[in-house]
Amino acid sequence: MLCLSLGCLSAGAQNNFAVFQETPVNSLTPKGWMRNMLERQRDGLTGHIAVAGDPFDKEGWGYAENKKMNDWAQYEQTGYWADGALRCGYLIGDKALQEKVREWIRFQINNPDSTGFIGPKDISFLWPEVVFFRAVMAEYEATGDKKIINALKRNYHSPKYVSLSGAPGQDDFFKDRLILHIEMLCWIYQQTGESFFIQKSEDAYKAFNASGGQYSIQAMNADDVPRSHSVSYSENLKIPIILYISTGKKEYLDAALKGVHKLYKYHGLVDGLTSGNELHDGNFSNEVHETCTVSDMQWALGYLLQATGDAQWGDLIEKICFNAGMGSVTKDFKSYQYYSGPNQVIADGLSSHWNDHEPWYMTSRDRSAFKINHRPSCCGGNVNRMLPVFCSRMWMKSGDTGIVAALYSASVYNTKLKGVKGEVTIKEETNYPFDQNVRFRIALDKKANFTLSFRIPSWCDSAKVLINGKPSDLKCDAGTFAKLDRLFNNGDVIDLLLPMTVKPVYLPENGIAFERGPLVYSLSIDAKTEIKGSKTNENVVFNSTFKTPVSAWNLAPLGKSNVEVVQTSDFSDPWNPDTTPVKLTLDAVAIKNWSLYRETYTPQLPSVIDLGKEQKMTLVPMGTTELRLTVFPDLLKRYDQNAIK
Ligand SMILES: [Zn+2]
Repeated sequence: MLCLSLGCLSAGAQNNFAVFQETPVNSLTPKGWMRNMLERQRDGLTGHIAVAGDPFDKEGWGYAENKKMNDWAQYEQTGYWADGALRCGYLIGDKALQEKVREWIRFQINNPDSTGFIGPKDISFLWPEVVFFRAVMAEYEATGDKKIINALKRNYHSPKYVSLSGAPGQDDFFKDRLILHIEMLCWIYQQTGESFFIQKSEDAYKAFNASGGQYSIQAMNADDVPRSHSVSYSENLKIPIILYISTGKKEYLDAALKGVHKLYKYHGLVDGLTSGNELHDGNFSNEVHETCTVSDMQWALGYLLQATGDAQWGDLIEKICFNAGMGSVTKDFKSYQYYSGPNQVIADGLSSHWNDHEPWYMTSRDRSAFKINHRPSCCGGNVNRMLPVFCSRMWMKSGDTGIVAALYSASVYNTKLKGVKGEVTIKEETNYPFDQNVRFRIALDKKANFTLSFRIPSWCDSAKVLINGKPSDLKCDAGTFAKLDRLFNNGDVIDLLLPMTVKPVYLPENGIAFERGPLVYSLSIDAKTEIKGSKTNENVVFNSTFKTPVSAWNLAPLGKSNVEVVQTSDFSDPWNPDTTPVKLTLDAVAIKNWSLYRETYTPQLPSVIDLGKEQKMTLVPMGTTELRLTVFPDLLKRYDQNAIK
């Protein structure tokens, strides 16, 4: 029997304590802008990754005779790409892209060592396997190929995996990443119900915690301000959540919740992600995050959403993807930033600020530039996962009789439910997040009883549901999942109306930003774009560019309640700042004394204000922009009026 989302334990036993369960990546087909962006990804970096150079021009995880890799980081980086590319290939039905990764998976599965170990034989650091196995898990879920699960099971019996908590004397980085194999162990436990895998997970986590460290369960439970490597934190955060899902032990979930709440309290940025310039760095307006965390935090929060069924984690995943994520790439998906943030008024070879206190990276002051690849190349691999990871959690199941629309984007979802003949198909029609209506069309062989749950975001306090055009009295409280439990007929149409209003967000440094639904709005700054390197792959040209501002960005909102929403019904190119369908206009004033910090970096908000000319300002979704200002000085409410001249 194949058990793809729920554990296969015999009746009476339980091995999945999550409220929602993941479904295979090939059970949905994205449509609308999401499909368009995934295709751009395929036509851009994901489908031509060799253009990014080392290590993506090597033979990767496949058979390597000539262009071998010899370093753990190369396996990590190509592993990230493999996960993103395989999921992307499934989502858009691109067989060639799937096959590029499947060839690697096939090679690894068919060539374990004599102990069953899968992976590069000459690399002793076993973290890259975690990264690559996420693609292997996706492939198994999509195909049900027994060879895959059997090979993975055998792999974890290999002596190489005797200890997952590191050995005495090994450095912390080694231990912090090695423990992440718990993700795979618990996943195998979910598929097979074999207690070896959960036992090994809990034993390893116990030993890991016993040696302490910044990602231990006691560190998550502590009241201090976390300041850790941002990528490692988002990877390690999910481990207690995953253990909770398989054991139901609340102490795991409580620690993760405490960890994520304090992380956001001290380092949360307005675009949904936490800061991190290698280390977490606070929540000022010019803070940045690493593109790896766009994917890794979404992935971790997806587990939290499954574990708790709490809508706020769905809200946060959308916020990360639509704002921080889309804001870190050029929309042709041919270049990306290593560091990006809500306020970035310059992105050139020297603008990656805060390197002042990271001397190790003084050579990487171009990390905010839009490049084909950065050094190290972690984000160059991970950026390929950004949208596929989002799509992987759009649709979930609740037990074997419930379907969950967890994150919104146009798509077609197919699944089977217990007691329902044939497949259930749900067509989700929407231009969300640019439109506030989501329509679900139900297709069934025969009418059937089941539950369709959908997320009512925390920002929406007037959601409504129409069933076949008629208003329904279904409970739609903000920040919950509405549950429609009924006898569905073939052809039923469920309309979810999620009215979006503009809301100010008050931020540190007396800052203000504007949100509408899941989107954060920014002033898009015109840029002078200098090409700093050009490469061609399969006749597709890729450019690395530096961008410097050529339009005024030093503005602050002025006037009261003057934000106007300007909407069009043209949804054809929504991630373009010129054609995006929803813009905000408001009165603003120039600030004469606000300029680049040391003539090089995006500055913090000014403490003293020298007012200039009043003018109109237009804001567009942050995710559409490259250079931008998202957090403004709040002159009206929060500045000391004596500081304004
Ligand atoms: Zn990275």
